[in-house]
Amino acid sequence: MGTYNITLLPGDGIGPEIVSGAVTVLNAVGKKFNHTFSYTEADIGGCAIDKHGTSLPQETIDKCLASDSVLLGAVGGPKWDGVPADIRPESGLLGIRKALGLYSNLRPSILKPQLKAASPLKDDKLESGLDIMVVRELTGGIYFGKKQRAADNSWASDEEKYSREEILRIGKIAFETAMIRQKRVVSVDKANVLESSRLWRETMNELAKDYPEVALSHMYVDNAAMQIAINPAQFDVIVTSNIFGDILSDLSSAVAGSIGMLPSASLGAGKRGMYEPIHGSAPDIAGMDIANPIATIVSAAMMLELSFGLLEEARAVNCAVDAVLDAGYRTADIMSEGMKKIGTKEMADRIAANI
Ligand code: NAD
Repeated sequence: MGTYNITLLPGDGIGPEIVSGAVTVLNAVGKKFNHTFSYTEADIGGCAIDKHGTSLPQETIDKCLASDSVLLGAVGGPKWDGVPADIRPESGLLGIRKALGLYSNLRPSILKPQLKAASPLKDDKLESGLDIMVVRELTGGIYFGKKQRAADNSWASDEEKYSREEILRIGKIAFETAMIRQKRVVSVDKANVLESSRLWRETMNELAKDYPEVALSHMYVDNAAMQIAINPAQFDVIVTSNIFGDILSDLSSAVAGSIGMLPSASLGAGKRGMYEPIHGSAPDIAGMDIANPIATIVSAAMMLELSFGLLEEARAVNCAVDAVLDAGYRTADIMSEGMKKIGTKEMADRIAANI
């Protein structure tokens, strides 16, 4: 029996609907396993711009720092497309990752057998299954590098810069993760062109000496994108930079069926993490009760496991998701013939009822 304080950052678009679904499931876990989850809500993204004039108010950072963990929905939407770059909704997201020291992003892509029909790949590509863990560096690289633009708009530039220390710490997470999986790491870079990638590759090779049981190989990012599409079963752990990880994890999620299914965990040196679905705020379907809440619900399961050490409880959430899918219930994004279409709230309620 434990007490856990969670900061909820619902954000924009479908964020509030999917976070509310995850809370329903967490409350069912609390009831079943006798834990108390208490929640504090804070603003981030577009809704924070509207209320506070900034996408990341100091109050939000303080609440996150005072809590055991953070669950985020998503930020952004067309309403804020025109705001200055430094207060854009996405800058709030980058800012909170930095403020909480969350330098690694774990993004598992698993194709559930029940959702094979939802994958765009043909059956023969999926015979060996799909279970990829993308370990993405989260607080460095081009997203945080120096940004410049000429006063007359004739040029603009962004800097991709990595220190050896930054590469070592994300590499360690990847190797440790591989040790409890299939013991294979593919490091993805663009070392044929980029100096930062050459340092990345050298540092990964150096680190590999500490993990003799793990097989390390390297792949250029363009080839990696192609390989994920043509032979995804070859991958166990992929470790890569911030920008390449952003792109490749979306690709591996699409291969796994729907972006609405996949969770992520952002971790730093301590136990506190930030957990969020990998998709965005889906403004096109916001407020319609049709978004898939499963990515957020299984993100909460990752929080139970990685931040709170509640392995049985995390397993209960994943099993409840499987049970609802086995019973044929689907949200619109994963709907296929013969299945029963349900909305966001009903999906969360059914998962909670199966805990
Ligand atoms: P998106 O992920 O929001 O949506 C892409 C497509 O997937 C849309 O058709 C959407 O309806 C669908 N989709 C996404 N999540 C879904 C779910 N749970 N259930 C069913 N369908 C789902 O990406 P986008 O349209 O490129 O971006 C929309 C906004 O989100 C932008 O402002 C973008 O900057 C922001 N964004 C935020 C994050 C984040 O908060 N972490 C990540 C990516 C994009």
